[in-house]
Amino acid sequence: MNLIEADAKLLLRRHGLATPSGALLGPGDPLPAWCAQAGCVLKAQLFEGGRGKAGLVRICDPADAPDHLAALRGALAQRGYEPYVLAEERVSIAHEYYLACQIDDVEQQVVLLFSPTGGVDVEHGTPPARLALAPGVVLRPDHVAAFLRASGAAQAHLGALCRFAAALHRVFIAEDAELLEINPLAVTQSGELLALDAKAVLDEAADFRHGDRATLVSSSLQSAGRTPMELAAARSGITFVPLDGDIAILTGGAGNGMMVADAVTDAGYRTANFVDTIGGSGADRWQQLAELVFEHARQPQVRAIVAYFTLSVTPLRYLVDGLLAALRATPPTKPLVLGVIATGAAENLLTLPDALALLRDAGLDPVVELPDLVERLTRTIPAR
Ligand code: GDP
Ligand code: MN
Repeated sequence: MNLIEADAKLLLRRHGLATPSGALLGPGDPLPAWCAQAGCVLKAQLFEGGRGKAGLVRICDPADAPDHLAALRGALAQRGYEPYVLAEERVSIAHEYYLACQIDDVEQQVVLLFSPTGGVDVEHGTPPARLALAPGVVLRPDHVAAFLRASGAAQAHLGALCRFAAALHRVFIAEDAELLEINPLAVTQSGELLALDAKAVLDEAADFRHGDRATLVSSSLQSAGRTPMELAAARSGITFVPLDGDIAILTGGAGNGMMVADAVTDAGYRTANFVDTIGGSGADRWQQLAELVFEHARQPQVRAIVAYFTLSVTPLRYLVDGLLAALRATPPTKPLVLGVIATGAAENLLTLPDALALLRDAGLDPVVELPDLVERLTRTIPAR
């Protein structure tokens, strides 16, 4: 789940990290009185970065704040966003750093990223320096001092930067984040460190540990951009990505899904979706997944459904039960090309030959090998 800046800063403040003070203005909210007295910074709240360059961050004098607010609301509406604007106190910046905590998908670990020159041009400069953090480590300020010094932190800011980095990592772990990025992490004229901007991506699989996430503004903004089907899927831990191709894909697990998508694409088709599921492999989960894809396949541009499963641990029994239940509950309206292969522990409750027999009894004609699946697809529906 992506957070807008206002929510990301709320998270930081809850954990004691400093941000400018301010107020989130919803649609129709008036400009706070202090903006008209002291001036303010107005920042459009959307899920994309690069706002500084796009004119979506406005440093306002008291007199022109109302015009800037109207302009930002207009710009958001034009981009199809709800007009949320963050109004903050003006800060005079002495220096801008870049600091982030992130899960590195490839290295499969948390990394701390730091650049001595943050701000709007950070992606054009030298890439941030990286420090890999051991799983479970409780980061202390002195752990990162050598790294930050070697990466260009000024001696005068080193102590404050070390404390900020350690605290950022603590928030990252406590909030089950995938990314927390502070750019700029500003040094003010009075020498304070302030998170002037914040970007956060939270792991939705951990939502159950954080009861208040649904109350974040980001949550309703995100819901606004999703179809009812995507919302239902997200609520039950299924990642469903609609695409604009003509072959709906029903698979279990991301690796299996990508393999099938590649095979279908290589045969000259375009996939109509991607699905992945986190946790749970009971029959009801398979049924839900299948019904979701069958529903998606009702759209006119979808011509066929390709379902393929490679199981080595997840019980084949549950897959077959779930699939047959979905076929009874919501029969697909497009041709279904089905394949299943299972080995090892997956066959404990039901062997592959028995599973194939059950599927045939239900009027299906399953294949086992992936090339046979593709061949069956080309005979069912020719590629365009
Ligand atoms: P982004 O471009 O979407 O990442 O938006 P940011 O929140 O990072 O804002 C872009 C730039 O605006 C920052 O790098 C700052 O240089 C500048 N900026 C933001 N807030 C303030 C502020 O309170 N005072 C001043 N002087 N500059 C600010
Ligand atoms: Mn920024």
